[in-house]
Amino acid sequence: MVIKDVLNRPLLDLRISVTDRCNMRCRYCMPREHFDENHEFLPKEDILTFEEIVCIVRALLPHGLRKIRLTGGEPLLRKDIHELIRQLRGCSKNLDIAITTNGLLLKKHLQNLYEAGLSRVTISLDALDEGTFQRMGDTTARPSHVLEAIDAVQEIGLPVKINAVIKKGVNEREISSMVQTFGPRNIPVRFIEYMDVGSTNDWNLDHVVTANEMRSILSKEFGSLRVHQSSHPSDVAKLYTTSNNWQIGFIESITNPFCGDCSRARLSANGRIYTCLFANNGHDLRSILRMDASSEDVFQAIQSIWLNRNDRYSEERSHQTRGVKVEMSYIGG
Ligand code: SAM
Ligand code: SF4
Ligand code: SF4
Repeated sequence: MVIKDVLNRPLLDLRISVTDRCNMRCRYCMPREHFDENHEFLPKEDILTFEEIVCIVRALLPHGLRKIRLTGGEPLLRKDIHELIRQLRGCSKNLDIAITTNGLLLKKHLQNLYEAGLSRVTISLDALDEGTFQRMGDTTARPSHVLEAIDAVQEIGLPVKINAVIKKGVNEREISSMVQTFGPRNIPVRFIEYMDVGSTNDWNLDHVVTANEMRSILSKEFGSLRVHQSSHPSDVAKLYTTSNNWQIGFIESITNPFCGDCSRARLSANGRIYTCLFANNGHDLRSILRMDASSEDVFQAIQSIWLNRNDRYSEERSHQTRGVKVEMSYIGG
């Protein structure tokens, strides 16, 4: 039986943050002044074990769960992450198991991830220009490392998409060059409107490049864009194609929210379930798991949370008065 929330939305997707740590400090996500050497990351004993994560997934599989996304922080910093994928794949042959990564460690781990049963990869890359990449990510890493990882994913034969957050005055110039680079290789680029997640990134509407603005930049270069129907209504990206059939997506959380179709739950690395990316609080599952709960007990706990869910933050954003929101690196993007 599929569980549906107050607004009739099923729980189909689970985003699992496997660590709150990261090897980058993207200005819009983990600004270094907040995530410095004094920042207290989760202690190891607080973080869910692979077995605990698998128990949650097993609990949801008979109730409509069809997709998992491993994220973070940087998921490839979690030791032996391929082992988690192997265990998840053991739960179901058909489960869609994706990972979102900044790509810096991907080449090293790719073969193991592939053999373990990973279905697809999303790589975050905000700029091809080295200076812009390093400024946005507050990193000395190079975009060429990420490009090598993208090549490797294509070589191994896994589907790959690129995520790029666009911030006004910082990387608008990258919009066209990303499409020019990845379009001919059949790699969809999904441009993300800079979101007001968390409380540390000093988000301001003036920093947002809207999807309409991005499309107008692209139309000048590539001609008018055609709307492309997505294969599933809960897809977060609005899809378009250029006249030469290159696919482009826009994640328009600010200007065109998609709460009505939101079927995602998020599991933080320390085992809290969040029913919205912009939630203030999560629901503790770890305590239940550590009291020797069965899959049925875990399902009952999640069901009671989901049945009461009425989140639609992005649709209500203009009149929000919420308190301190949870950080993206903790809850998982
Ligand atoms: N570290 C991995 C990565 O960067 O791909 C996974 C975690 S990251 C939090 C997941 C996604 O969230 C990334 O694509 C990132 O660009 C996006 N993201 C983080 N902060 C954001 C913000 N304020 N607005 C829009 N997207 C954001
Ligand atoms: Fe790290 Fe990803 Fe956040 Fe960048 S977006 S700081 S890579 S978690
Ligand atoms: Fe889903 Fe919350 Fe985002 Fe709306 S704001 S799409 S409910 S995560």
